[in-house]
Amino acid sequence: MGRLDGKVAYITGGARGQGAAFALTFAREGADIVISDICDQIDTVRYDLGTKGELEAVAQGVRNLGRRCIADVADVRDQAQLDALTQKALNEFGKIDIVCANAGIHGVAKFWAMTENQWDNLIGVNLTGIWKTAKSTAPSMIDRQSGCFIVTSSVSGREPLPEYCHYTSAKHGVIGLAKSLAIELGPYNIRVNTLLPGPIDTPLNDNPVNRDWAAGFPNATTDDMHASIRHWHNLRGRGALPVQAVANAALWLASDEAEHVHGVELPIDAGHLLLPGFNHAPVQPEGYPRRPNEGYNPYDAY
Ligand code: NAD
Repeated sequence: MGRLDGKVAYITGGARGQGAAFALTFAREGADIVISDICDQIDTVRYDLGTKGELEAVAQGVRNLGRRCIADVADVRDQAQLDALTQKALNEFGKIDIVCANAGIHGVAKFWAMTENQWDNLIGVNLTGIWKTAKSTAPSMIDRQSGCFIVTSSVSGREPLPEYCHYTSAKHGVIGLAKSLAIELGPYNIRVNTLLPGPIDTPLNDNPVNRDWAAGFPNATTDDMHASIRHWHNLRGRGALPVQAVANAALWLASDEAEHVHGVELPIDAGHLLLPGFNHAPVQPEGYPRRPNEGYNPYDAY
């Protein structure tokens, strides 16, 4: 018996990374799956986004587990595309039980150098995209008086980091949005909970800009990134965490085991949020021995 037998789960940003892990984990536990992804580039994103081939591979993985799958291209910034996919899911599967509003992008720039386009794209995907996903999928849950939203924020929803004010603003906003959804949907027996992942081992993290940012020097490798992230976690020896760590948390929230859990923010961060903080750019006194990479700004290279 699966923990999600008979359920239908709808996941945005499902071509790879955490969204793909949600799809395969939920399918393994008995759910039919609807996955969507942009499968295109956004001009301000400096790493490759998910592709149609990756989306189809996830769909095939779901089918190999014996579950049904709808896999379509939909940009979470586009309400008409989201509404069309919701309608297709309702026509084919008759209901949607679980929605994972997961699609997201990342980027870095100092706030005074950030372009309007960088700001608008990131807020449009990471914050407004969640509202549009919920707007599209909530009405059928309200009709059935049953459902579950799992919304992806980040530890960046609780704390700032330098050089991504748009990401920090979006992820703080996601927590507020999810609380608003929760208070409005609770009376309809629809649960809303929020995931706060720390650094997770996906292409959003493991790309040249982010590797250099995390490691603090140019041309950093994946190993350099993991080494630096070990300073970030409180639990011993963790680099960027596996996608399954987040999928396991999402599975529990989606399952009946969490039937009375509503309105929580769940960190999956190896204890990072316990830590007291860190100054990323300390000013050293005159004559203090300089570190080899002091003054180096990895973003100047991009
Ligand atoms: P990822 O880049 O591997 O996957 C994100 C997916 O979202 C990609 O397939 C991408 O194509 C898709 N996407 C991007 N823009 C879209 C749009 N407009 N419409 C539809 N799909 C779109 O990254 P991931 O780590 O799996 O990220 C999933 C979520 O987790 C994001 O919301 C991200 O902000 C959040 N998060 C990630 C980390 C991390 O360290 N990787 C940490 C905390 C939170």
